[in-house]
Amino acid sequence: MSRAAKLDVALIAATRFQAPEDVDWSTDAEGPEALIEFAGRACYETFDKPNPRTATNAAYVRHIMEVGHAALFEHATATMYIRGISRAATHEFLRHRHFSFSQLSQRFTHDEPTVVLPPAIAEDEELSRLMLNAAQDLAFIHDDLLGALEEKLGTNPLATRQARQAARYVLPAATESRMVVTGNYRTWRHFIAARATEHADVELRTLAIECLRLLRVEAPTAFGDFDISTLADGTEMATSPYVAEF
Ligand SMILES: Cc1cc2nc3c(=O)[nH]c(=O)nc-3n(C[C@H](O)[C@H](O)[C@H](O)COP(=O)(O)OP(=O)(O)OC[C@H]3O[C@@H](n4cnc5c(N)ncnc54)[C@H](O)[C@@H]3O)c2cc1C
Repeated sequence: MSRAAKLDVALIAATRFQAPEDVDWSTDAEGPEALIEFAGRACYETFDKPNPRTATNAAYVRHIMEVGHAALFEHATATMYIRGISRAATHEFLRHRHFSFSQLSQRFTHDEPTVVLPPAIAEDEELSRLMLNAAQDLAFIHDDLLGALEEKLGTNPLATRQARQAARYVLPAATESRMVVTGNYRTWRHFIAARATEHADVELRTLAIECLRLLRVEAPTAFGDFDISTLADGTEMATSPYVAEF
């Protein structure tokens, strides 16, 4: 029987920063946000913090956002492992060209077909059953096609790959996918700004907000300007006053 996949996002890699020992500078943050400040101060060698208004790391990072010096955010990166996302949503995600992606091959299929139910379907028992049955039917057709193609093309490794490649065309856009995604903070901010709005597809919006929450733990100031709110339908969106500068 086919089953519904649940979104799961994990931060699996993040920037580690070590200030050079021969530079007389310290700050009250660590990791990616310390790196962003270091990169900014390196531009004018203001390691002595001549401006008292930007002496803390949070004030400095916020100032960068205000003046739109977005390139500094490119030094810090974060990698997510995402499961329970549909091929429909990964297709939209892949449009963001500054990320690096590694995605589960559709030539590889789980024994039990897993699909992502859009919220409008997931909240309705009858519609969920309809969609899961459709996914199961397509999985049967996929297996029949694969069997027939293997018979036709043979079972050497190349033929098996070609058979799987052709059979997957029948799989639905709802098929669960998995991916490792790496991006710098400027890219993550741009993605969140574009996809966490109420106009974006709900699945990708949910993912964008999930990533935002994880990134906020890593870098509370660099992602702290996004305000998360709940829409009338119960889903969430996020906006920032600074996205125009980025
Ligand atoms: C609500 C919504 C609806 C959408 N609907 C559709 C749709 O109907 N059809 C469709 O095809 N797409 C649609 N999209 C996708 C959209 O067109 C973009 O492909 C996607 O949002 C990626 O964003 P981006 O192009 O700004 O750039 P990214 O690839 O994320 O790059 C970030 C920024 O880098 C710069 N950049 C990147 N590459 C270049 C380049 N080659 N030249 C110059 N500058 C560059 C730009 O400033 C860009 O904004 C939709 C997106 C959203 C959010």
